[in-house]
Amino acid sequence: MGFSSVRKKGKFYNLSSDQASLKPCYSLLREIHRYACNKTCADCSAENPDWCSLNLGVIICIECSGIHRSLGTHISKVRSLTLDKFTHEATLLLCSLGNANSNSIWEAFKPENKPGKDTRKETKTKYIQAKYIHKRFMKRPRENPSQILFDAIESGNIPKTLEAIALGVNVNNPYPLEMLSDPVSLIPPPFLIRLPVLDIYGNPYLNKMIDIDLSSTPKDPEYYVIRYPIHLALYKQDLVMIELLFQYGSNTFQIDEATGCLLAHLIGYGHHVIEQNALDFLNMKNTLRGQPAIVKLNTISLSSNKMC
Ligand SMILES: [Zn+2]
Repeated sequence: MGFSSVRKKGKFYNLSSDQASLKPCYSLLREIHRYACNKTCADCSAENPDWCSLNLGVIICIECSGIHRSLGTHISKVRSLTLDKFTHEATLLLCSLGNANSNSIWEAFKPENKPGKDTRKETKTKYIQAKYIHKRFMKRPRENPSQILFDAIESGNIPKTLEAIALGVNVNNPYPLEMLSDPVSLIPPPFLIRLPVLDIYGNPYLNKMIDIDLSSTPKDPEYYVIRYPIHLALYKQDLVMIELLFQYGSNTFQIDEATGCLLAHLIGYGHHVIEQNALDFLNMKNTLRGQPAIVKLNTISLSSNKMC
């Protein structure tokens, strides 16, 4: 590694990655079934399920996989554990979630009438819709879900990250400004910007505005302020977390409202604190979507504060 720690908001972080010690799963089904919770379908308890929903984190039987497919890929991304190919990171994502962790989110309040393997398909369908679309069995924590998301990414907690997303946090929303003591950096010229205060869903909050004096932004070349979930996951070199964020539509080619820059450019400008393997993984994911690779930038120019 080119460095051992960098500064963020006055703290130092060790960048050694736990992920490096994880070994690839040579037989996915065998690896998944090592966990007792994954030996029965997450939705109907049928034995030896060999399908999964990659984004919901559950191992399911073939009949439930058909029901999941009918929900649409924006709700459930169904894969076969025996027929489909998985990247190393997708495999680790499934192993990090699985039926025990995922059902503790989707079925925090386990309903008495949960279907069994012999329940009629129509009944199973209603149950699965209630569970994943209407989220009827989830717990609603008191904490701000956006704060839960950033705390979970910070600590590398994949199930907690999924919980925050399940609570409705958009992974493309920035850290709420009111939660940041030092909201924006990676911008060379000092200037003042006025931004609308947003609620946790990214909508304007009571038409309130906030002034941010960027002239106090540190110029330390090793300073990298986290603005978006993908920023933090990259910074932590957490490829499995990046995989999860991408499963929920993380997009580095959106424009950051505070700077008018593409997230990709902010990432490229902060390359000195991002490990090459994390950037390579991100670029691989972007390439699969037909998006250009993120390149390292030593300067970032602003034009009318709108576009880089
Ligand atoms: Zn099932």
